[in-house]
Amino acid sequence: MTLAPTETRTISHWATGAGFAGSSDRTASVTNPATGAVTGAVALASATDAKAVIDAAAAAFPAWRDTSLAKRTSVLFAFRELLNARKHELAEIITAEHGKVISDAIGEISRGQEVVEFACGIAHLLKGGMTENASTKVDVASLRQPLGPVAIISPFNFPAMVPMWFFPIAIAAGNTVVLKPSEKDPSAAIWMAKLWAEAGLPDGVFNVLQGDKVAVDELLTNRTIKAISFVGSTPIAQYVYSTGTAHGKRVQALGGAKNHAIVLPDADLDLAADAMVNAGFGSAGERCMAISALVAVGDIADELVAKIAQRTAGLKVGDGTRNTDMGPLVTQAHRDKVASYVDAGEADGATIVVDGRGVAVDGDNSGFWLGPTLIDHVTTDMSVYTDEIFGPVLSVVRVETYDEAIDLVNSGPFGNGTAIFTNDGGAARRFQNEIEVGMVGINVPIPVPTAYYSFGGWKNSLFGDTHAHGMEGVHFFTRGKVVTTRWLDPSHGGINLGFPENN
Ligand code: NAD
Repeated sequence: MTLAPTETRTISHWATGAGFAGSSDRTASVTNPATGAVTGAVALASATDAKAVIDAAAAAFPAWRDTSLAKRTSVLFAFRELLNARKHELAEIITAEHGKVISDAIGEISRGQEVVEFACGIAHLLKGGMTENASTKVDVASLRQPLGPVAIISPFNFPAMVPMWFFPIAIAAGNTVVLKPSEKDPSAAIWMAKLWAEAGLPDGVFNVLQGDKVAVDELLTNRTIKAISFVGSTPIAQYVYSTGTAHGKRVQALGGAKNHAIVLPDADLDLAADAMVNAGFGSAGERCMAISALVAVGDIADELVAKIAQRTAGLKVGDGTRNTDMGPLVTQAHRDKVASYVDAGEADGATIVVDGRGVAVDGDNSGFWLGPTLIDHVTTDMSVYTDEIFGPVLSVVRVETYDEAIDLVNSGPFGNGTAIFTNDGGAARRFQNEIEVGMVGINVPIPVPTAYYSFGGWKNSLFGDTHAHGMEGVHFFTRGKVVTTRWLDPSHGGINLGFPENN
């Protein structure tokens, strides 16, 4: 589906296997960030609309949880095949509403698809344990069962991948789902809902609720919803975690980030410079695993900054549907906020080495453009360093020693991702051990774990105990039950009020 720039349409909810208009008259504009054109209006649910979508998920739960693993798995395989065959359609939708370049949109879908593939193995992942004769003629078995209707609340920056961190596993495990996507790029969720229907998923197992805080608040407080997987900024993650848990729900709330890369003096500076450009400016820096602070250790800083500047100058900024390296920012307001951090850094005395303000673009000048920006001599008291900027801004902080670099990372409030660049195995091993961050790269700038491991940060980057996907995802979307069994046998008769001992 490709929309002409001037075409607008209404994007509404999806419940019980069909589009659902709801009764709210509130909407928000959806824009194409590369042109600035309004291309749609997304419904903003009322609490009543949200309840209707939650009810659809509740109604579908009893039959879905009792559907055999063989049948559930066959739907997952079908979804995987359709997604794989048609990911270009989804990529175009993502680019039209988010702005990231098509190849990057394909990349996020592929990473989401890995989780679908992982969930295709749910029959193995859900296997319980069984002990025969734990006590005389008594057997004990452990099971994992689905929770019920669960909610996923996702951010704008990965409209396909982030929901796919959760829903394949939730659905495979026998839960039903309400996905609340970002109101900035809501169409990917509807496309995926239609794909599920085509794959044969029964109506009501996967639902989409469009909206803002009103929709989120209903999900957080409605007794029908048993668990919440949230991804977004730290203040909202904290709110979601505290409100959801106060209402008795299981919550995993992944928050914001400020990721550092440390480059040691022995590193290959060309490879490190490549990595900094890729991780700093890919997806216009709108990735929770983007590198936004480069910590240059020792006397390499001048040479490294020059190499990064030279590579940055070659980047082509423009419309993501053209052959460009980097697209626009998601909204004009976000573009201006990011640019204001560059202004502040300059005013605070940092050196603007590459200035993305006023960048020349291959695209419509009305787009939300800010080019890659490299800022040197940043100090830890500057807002360009302290705040999560979420844009194509790479700050360079210069330190003398490895210990200073580690202290810098560990004293920050976030702990999502980090990387070290070095050829010294001992230093890398020490880093892996000492660094207080959930996802660590060694000569890997964006260490996003593969689907069968789990994704999650530490500190203000995640609230809750469980990370996304992998075995932690399977545990999040199921709860344990232990069954102790004894089949009637005359030898077990008799009265005994004591606490049962195994014998
Ligand atoms: P956001 O916090 O503004 O929005 C996230 C979700 O919360 C959206 O669905 C939004 O509609 C909803 N929301 C917004 N305001 C709300 C409110 N007041 N009450 C209730 N719900 C509300 O985040 P965003 O701008 O869409 O995404 C960018 C942020 O997400 C960045 O901070 C980024 O680091 C973070 N992020 C984190 C990860 C991770 O894995 N830790 C991954 C992707 C993005």
